[in-house]
Amino acid sequence: MSGDRPHPTDCSEVLGRLYEYLDREMPDGDCAKFQEHIDECSPCLEKYGLEQSVKKLVKRCCGHDDVPADLRSKVLGRIDAIRAGEAGPVRPDPGEAA
Ligand SMILES: [Zn+2]
Repeated sequence: MSGDRPHPTDCSEVLGRLYEYLDREMPDGDCAKFQEHIDECSPCLEKYGLEQSVKKLVKRCCGHDDVPADLRSKVLGRIDAIRAGEAGPVRPDPGEAA
């Protein structure tokens, strides 16, 4: 991967450990590194935003963290469709917005 400038944390490391970060299972030191990277790296920020919306979507559907694999893959498929079809930020479903 290439960016505008080098980061102390590699994009592949950020993306590989994104769930640790999202789940707040990451040590504070690493968390700060990730925050810094995500702030500066728009591809990682975009990916982080997508994963965050998947998490919210799944939480809303199930009300708990024990998500069935098939639901998760459905949600991920939907995110893929969003990524493939749109360059812009993820928008909530108009029909589902409270
Ligand atoms: Zn990055």
